[in-house]
Amino acid sequence: MIQQLKRLFVSVCPHCGQPLQTDEATAHCVIKVCPGGHYTEESYGHLGVRVVYTDN
Ligand SMILES: [Zn+2]
Repeated sequence: MIQQLKRLFVSVCPHCGQPLQTDEATAHCVIKVCPGGHYTEESYGHLGVRVVYTDN
């Protein structure tokens, strides 16, 4: 149960499975990126919006 919850909070790249690194974090926006550059995720917590860019 706890492991399943943890998985929700740990983002990994869907392409290579590496943990995402926090590139930028402000009061309103958190940007996480794959170390390999496959994936970028922007989270706007106050809006409840998550924008994802994938390298397809
Ligand atoms: Zn990746």
